[in-house]
Amino acid sequence: MITRLSQLFVRTLREDPADAEVASHRWLVRAGYIRRVAPGVYSWLPLGLKVMQKVEGILREEMEAAGGQEVRFPALLPRDPYEATNRWTEYGENLFRLQDRRGNDMLLGPTHEEMFTLLVGDLYSSYKDLPLMLFQIQTKYRDEARPRAGLLRGREFVMKDAYSFDVDDAGLEASYQAIRDAYIRIFDRLGLEYVIVKATSGAMGGSASEEFQAVLSAGEDSFVRSPGGYAANVEAVTVTSPPAVDSDDVPDAVVVDTPGTPTISSLVDLLNTNHPRGDREWDAADTLKNVVLKVTEPDGSIWPLAIGLPGDREVDARRLAAALAPAEAAPFEETDFAAHPSLVKGYIGPGALGEKSPSKVRYLVDPRVVTGTEWVTGADQQDRHVMHLVAGRDFTPDGVIDVAEVREGDPAPDGSGPLSLERGMEVGHIFQLGRKYAEALGLKVLDRNGKLVTVTMGSYGIGVSRIVAAVAETTCDDKGLAWPVELAPYQVQVMVTGKGQEMFQAAEDLAGKLSDLGLDVLYDDRKASPGVKFTDAELLGMPVAVVIGRGLANGMVEIRNRRTGEKREVSVADAVAAVRELAGD
Ligand code: ATP
Ligand code: MG
Repeated sequence: MITRLSQLFVRTLREDPADAEVASHRWLVRAGYIRRVAPGVYSWLPLGLKVMQKVEGILREEMEAAGGQEVRFPALLPRDPYEATNRWTEYGENLFRLQDRRGNDMLLGPTHEEMFTLLVGDLYSSYKDLPLMLFQIQTKYRDEARPRAGLLRGREFVMKDAYSFDVDDAGLEASYQAIRDAYIRIFDRLGLEYVIVKATSGAMGGSASEEFQAVLSAGEDSFVRSPGGYAANVEAVTVTSPPAVDSDDVPDAVVVDTPGTPTISSLVDLLNTNHPRGDREWDAADTLKNVVLKVTEPDGSIWPLAIGLPGDREVDARRLAAALAPAEAAPFEETDFAAHPSLVKGYIGPGALGEKSPSKVRYLVDPRVVTGTEWVTGADQQDRHVMHLVAGRDFTPDGVIDVAEVREGDPAPDGSGPLSLERGMEVGHIFQLGRKYAEALGLKVLDRNGKLVTVTMGSYGIGVSRIVAAVAETTCDDKGLAWPVELAPYQVQVMVTGKGQEMFQAAEDLAGKLSDLGLDVLYDDRKASPGVKFTDAELLGMPVAVVIGRGLANGMVEIRNRRTGEKREVSVADAVAAVRELAGD
């Protein structure tokens, strides 16, 4: 196929869009692939749509090869199914809710577990019908708090979502593995550098889940890796509690004056001056910091939470959000302190915390705060701390919460070495949902003994529009986009950099031959200057360019490889073979 650039619906821009934070966003807009309609909402122009359709093609092929059958649900959905699973509420502000003219509540689907569960329940009733895998490539809506980076985090975006249905756990495990393998093939074909990491399951519920993280410095996720192969989203890292410590030799707890020490560092300085230890300096890790928060449940109820953790670590906001989801935490404010007079800001200690204490503040501690560990912590009085306070001896928390920041060099929980921290963007997510949705929506089948059993499910997403941005992000340079052959809207761009009629004729001939070979050809037939044509070709990012210019008089054309920047002169006769080598399959 040949498309003439003079006819293509595209306008390249010389200026960056004002709201572009990341390279892919900047280039996709400037090269005329997408246009912003509203925050997190984009139109797809011909070039962008071609790339997305190529991504979809790969997904479709691999999902079908893995046994999936394609269906398509509407985006506009009734409330009832989402009420049955409680997600109408739990999805919180991320859900687009609306009403029809009769006042019926509806929503724009953020993901479709409910609808698939109901559909299979409507049509299937026997174990003989299973296993089953259905998928769709469809538009999703989420009213994201911070739509950003163009297609990377949209409020309207395209997702490939798949669902597996099995009669027992072994079946679910097999379906999960089959789709995991298909995902590996998909992301390999997409040419993305990715890491499969352990994940939390968030609002989705269910048990085992893994994410495919594209390695991307512009990404919003952090994940860790160890040399021994452990990999997890920071949200999903589990810190193993060390064994309990013997505290027989620890002196009795004692309250000491620590004037003007509301922060950990001021406290550590004062300890080193007024209470020096014989063996070493005091360190922030010797102190127990207590952070108070208020937690809001999806139904609006609020409860106070204190988190005790070693003073050298902060609470990680994402780990906290993941641990509490669907509830949300916010810092204690002055009015909250006023309502809890036993909590002395800057000097809060375990003495004033716990569900059985007068404050009734639930007190959860970091897994490192095990029985027998000794701490310096707040004495619940202004300007005073308590030393030698031993967990299990002097205080007993209500439980454990694993939300402290994960640091470069922390040990991997499976003993596979020190962790390194990296940035990524989630491009795929696979879940073993189990029976949560099937139970809530009554999806049961007769098993081989004629007994009704609840079906077990998996849910598997891939961010189609996000992948377009992720690939652009990892392949672009300071001149524009640079697509891999598999995803490029056109594999080759032919251009003329002169005025002679013979040049245009040679270009037409060459474009025709390339097209006959099955290549998609973009032919820059415009009467523009060579400078404009070169700049546009680099901006648009087709993998190969053929330049027909002055060299034609000697029977030569130039072949340019967009991704390596390599240029080479070849004879007109060899041009087709040279292009095919770079852009053929
Ligand atoms: P994130 O953590 O990035 O918000 P998520 O965990 O909420 O994503 P899932 O519910 O697992 O997302 O959705 C499946 C896939 O859909 C994700 O792996 C991601 O690739 C894509 N996706 C999710 N939210 C968006 C969005 N706002 N814009 C573009 N793609 C998205
Ligand atoms: Mg996810």
